[in-house]
Amino acid sequence: MSFLSAIAVMSLLVMFPVLLSLRKTGVPGVADFCAACLLTTFAGSVALAADVAPAWLHTVVGGTLMVAAGLLMLRGFRQFLGHRPHGIWPIIVVLAGVASAFLFFSYVVESHSARIVIGTGLLSLTCFLIGATILRHWPRERAIAPYMLFCCVMVFLVAILHAFQVASIATGMDAMDGGLAPPIWTTAFLAARLVIMPLFFLGIILMLHGWMIANLRHMIAHDDLTGALSRRAFMTAFERMFSTAAGSGRQTAFMLLDLDRFKQINDLYGHAGGDAALVHFTRTVREALAGRGILGRLGGEEFGIALTGAGRLEAAEIAETICTAVRTTPTRANKGAEIGLTVSIGVAMVDPGGSLADAMVQADVALYEAKALGRDRLSIAGSLHAASVASARALAGAAAQMRAAVGPAQSLSGTG
Ligand code: GH3
Ligand code: MG
Ligand code: MG
Repeated sequence: MSFLSAIAVMSLLVMFPVLLSLRKTGVPGVADFCAACLLTTFAGSVALAADVAPAWLHTVVGGTLMVAAGLLMLRGFRQFLGHRPHGIWPIIVVLAGVASAFLFFSYVVESHSARIVIGTGLLSLTCFLIGATILRHWPRERAIAPYMLFCCVMVFLVAILHAFQVASIATGMDAMDGGLAPPIWTTAFLAARLVIMPLFFLGIILMLHGWMIANLRHMIAHDDLTGALSRRAFMTAFERMFSTAAGSGRQTAFMLLDLDRFKQINDLYGHAGGDAALVHFTRTVREALAGRGILGRLGGEEFGIALTGAGRLEAAEIAETICTAVRTTPTRANKGAEIGLTVSIGVAMVDPGGSLADAMVQADVALYEAKALGRDRLSIAGSLHAASVASARALAGAAAQMRAAVGPAQSLSGTG
């Protein structure tokens, strides 16, 4: 048994620095998990040294440390699952009570059973509470669900094993067989407890890692100001949507949205006012979309929407709804002034055999048309207007290139 205890203590010693390294990541509850791991290691070491160490170390300190570890784990899980942590004082008061009880049943009335019932009973209760907390506040992130399940199973196993020990003492089932050796199930119980504790901490480490990875993924995939998809995440999702829709012969709609005269918003209300307007705009568009399609921030005050299962007419209706919602839902700047926003939208349809790059160019041309026609409106690529504006834009581009090419030549001839 001492061999198993030594392995358990070694495993916990290895896991402690891993947990400690996660402190810098700011994962909620990690400090309490670190402290719980350290206390469990101490408690395990005290149990290992029971034959050589003074009796009080094993009977009073070891048991109190285990109860403290349980309470810190509960505190850690509560924080991890989004609760405000309990203060540290209730824990200190409980521990003072537990230590006093251990002292009483060691030196005033000697009772090994009473000590086990208090220490093991409290640990069992704490573990049941941890399990119940996990089940009640099951996290939404699917990435950490398997680790949470693992932790949940482990913590309930610890709780059940300890409860079983308390019950066996209360009913006198664990009486020594002729005073020579404990019953076999007591040995099995101790072995299981030694194996499960390190596994539980392993589950906690995996859960914290899973949370960190999910958090980083979310940060990379979302714009931190507006919460819309980042450009890269939007393009990836757009390609996936397109190939799924193309597989079933359906069209995909792409919309390019650009806020109108946004420089003026910044000039009038400051950059912070502009930022607040962008957040408000994103919320308004999301509500208008009502779960249809995906929204991404492609850059600055330019956004993209992709949706499948909508034909040209329905896409135009949705774009119109967005224009109206943005126009009719003003927001407020810091000083309480109302900020009215409008948006121009270019819409392009991608056929199953089409190309996303082409659709984006077409939507850009349509957006240019919407701007040219007075803003606060939508324009659909392929319409008569869009074609004429596209050619106007192409002509303007060509003229700009010619000016750029001719300019230096003229200045050279001028100086010669
Ligand atoms: P138009 O109607 O032609 O689109 O006019 P506009 O003023 O919106 O012109 P343009 O699109 O060229 O200007 C975009 C402005 O958006 C310029 C930039 O200062 C501002 N902007 C871009 N990103 C941010 C941001 O994250 N926060 C704030 N506050 N402003 C931003
Ligand atoms: Mg703009
Ligand atoms: Mg712009």
